[in-house]
Amino acid sequence: MHIILFGPPGAGKGTQADNLVKDLNIIKISTGDLLRTEIEKGSNLGSEIKEIIDKGQLVPNNIISNLIKLKLKSQNYRKRIIFDGYPRNILQAKDLDDQLLKNKQNISLVISLHVNEKVVIKRILGRQVCSKCGLTFNEFSNLSTKNNHNCDKFFLKKRSDDNEKTIKKRFVVYNQETFPILNYYRKQNLLHEIDGMKEIGSIYKEIRAIIRPIEGWLYIAYSYK
Ligand code: AMP
Repeated sequence: MHIILFGPPGAGKGTQADNLVKDLNIIKISTGDLLRTEIEKGSNLGSEIKEIIDKGQLVPNNIISNLIKLKLKSQNYRKRIIFDGYPRNILQAKDLDDQLLKNKQNISLVISLHVNEKVVIKRILGRQVCSKCGLTFNEFSNLSTKNNHNCDKFFLKKRSDDNEKTIKKRFVVYNQETFPILNYYRKQNLLHEIDGMKEIGSIYKEIRAIIRPIEGWLYIAYSYK
């Protein structure tokens, strides 16, 4: 019953996944967040990862595969994950299928957010992430306010890879390595495509409508965990 939220950098995957986590019995796995947690630990692996992320490249598949394996082992994640920013190339997509099959699980839906690259670059430059609770805001389009955020503004930070040079490289990598995965899921009839340029609330409504047929299953998966 897992869901993949797919799209280029800045498409709004993290924001939409956070909304779903608030409203449904699902858990978000963002490989970007897992990698940043590893960087914060200050390990050798963390500094290797930071160098790659700051260049806008993809972190090697074996590192990602190990992170995912650890999560899939946990009963808590059984059959109710929303993947954000993963898989990012065809080998990762096949590795995920293999790992899920071993655990008698599967992907139910892939939701792809389509956005215009120029607009999204501006969006990314305005992105602010709360270093305390992890929520994402935007100084141009989705301000942190008392109504949507409990932490102090002091905790809002820019990501080190959210600069113009790295963003451009991330888009090249997305077009070459990540975008082709869409066909892999299209052939399996799992793909739902959405206009990601609309307002956050109306995109969320569309996502909820797509997920609705499996919402009941998410609750069942949760109660039998
Ligand atoms: P994100 O937080 O999803 O924007 O990811 C930030 C950066 O982390 C990416 O630009 C990549 O360098 C790295 N990254 C995140 N997820 C993956 C993944 N599944 N495979 C490889 N690298 C990743």
